[in-house]
Amino acid sequence: MNNHTLQQMTLENIARACGGTYVGEDTLRGSEITGAVIDSRQVEPGYLYIPIRGERVDGHRFIPDVFEKGALAVLSEEPLENPAGPYILVASSEQALKDIAEFYRSTLAIKIIGITGSVGKTSTKEMISAVLEQKYNVLKTEGNFNNEIGLPLTILRIRREHEAAVVEMGISEFGEMHRIAKVAKPDICVMTNIGQCHLENLIDRDGVLRAKSEIFDFLKPDGHIVLNGNDDKLITVSEAHGVKPIFYHVEDGTAPAADITYEVTADEIENKGLRGLNAVLHFPEEDCQIHEPIPGVHNVYNACAAACVGRIMGLTNEEICEGISHAKTIAGRTNLITVGELLVIDDCYNANPVSMKASLDVLAQADGRKIAVLGDMGELGENECEMHYEVGKYAANQGVDVLFCCGTLSEELAKGAQRGHTQVMYFKTLDKMMLALVPYLRNGDNVLVKASHFMEFSKVVEAICKAW
Ligand code: ATP
Ligand code: MG
Repeated sequence: MNNHTLQQMTLENIARACGGTYVGEDTLRGSEITGAVIDSRQVEPGYLYIPIRGERVDGHRFIPDVFEKGALAVLSEEPLENPAGPYILVASSEQALKDIAEFYRSTLAIKIIGITGSVGKTSTKEMISAVLEQKYNVLKTEGNFNNEIGLPLTILRIRREHEAAVVEMGISEFGEMHRIAKVAKPDICVMTNIGQCHLENLIDRDGVLRAKSEIFDFLKPDGHIVLNGNDDKLITVSEAHGVKPIFYHVEDGTAPAADITYEVTADEIENKGLRGLNAVLHFPEEDCQIHEPIPGVHNVYNACAAACVGRIMGLTNEEICEGISHAKTIAGRTNLITVGELLVIDDCYNANPVSMKASLDVLAQADGRKIAVLGDMGELGENECEMHYEVGKYAANQGVDVLFCCGTLSEELAKGAQRGHTQVMYFKTLDKMMLALVPYLRNGDNVLVKASHFMEFSKVVEAICKAW
């Protein structure tokens, strides 16, 4: 038996799983692949290459290259002339990717922890992984690969040595969670919160809850549900798919619900600003002091979620707390970068009102000049202007010294910030803003950079780092 192949992932089984037609030598039908990817640069000997038609590039173009690199087979949406190896003809590579990952999942005994919620999925994924790594060999979603492409690709990265997989599951419309949960079939579902995201499709927070709850349809029968007990929508979930949820609660001024027994609660939060925070976790058996290296009080919620998952997975409370103290962030997510004597809070990956406010809370902890560089938040639905205004107001109330902003909607954000002593500088374009911002900065400044992904604020972080 070859240790490096994915068991049962023969070309014959793969073709059957995705309803495709195998075209190639009969002798290879029973061969198992060693991996499956959509990026031709990641192909290794024995891999299955899945070409996706993107907006700019059609992955089919690279089929000859991947055979040269030793791919065992490829998928194709069109018949191939003289291919250098076998292929499976499919109607849609994107659908086939999901079908193949779903089949692979069915061959695995591994526990899968699926994380969803409006805000904090990636942070919670990192926290849960840090905890489970105390005891298990963990595979986790790379970066933010949480959608209908990223999730199946993550499942296909699971190998025999992995004992648990922590996967992020993000959606923006009804039906999408159903499709990705069918692939992941989680043993544990975690929901961080129900916020105001993707309202252009999901209408309101009840819609968000309904869309995310599609995950429960594919929860394993002996599975577990872990929910944020501070969230007024999530505490209404008393049962799903025959499973009673486990709740956690953070003392943040909201009263605990009388009819809920919390598995883990947190209080005595001591915010150490950019040096993270301390808190006390209350387990049914004992209380434990924790230290979190990542700034932002919202990380206490993520730590509680991770503690619940750790307990389900059989870790000791001590192992859980040790794991929490090792959690990390990924680039673009409250990533603290020190350049010279400048501190940049790189949070440019994405933004919505909840996460904007959380990041402004982090900035508020800084010593020295507090500069917020903010841009438009996308996909907020019809109240987008009010929401931008509100964030601007919040920035000023949090003591931001200087606000740089750009983008159409951020004009509202700028208006909201016209109060207190906040100096507001609004620019129509990103380039103009960067030209003004970079020379404006001086040693000792703290700069928060945050906007939705499409605003390309990673360029701001790059420009600052290059100039300093
Ligand atoms: P996306 O939908 O873009 O994948 P996400 O749900 O993965 O987002 P994160 O990247 O974990 O969210 O967090 C985004 C930002 O929200 C963080 O940088 C931080 O500022 C803030 N945040 C993290 N966790 C929480 C939380 N539990 N509650 C509120 N805000 C949070
Ligand atoms: Mg994410």
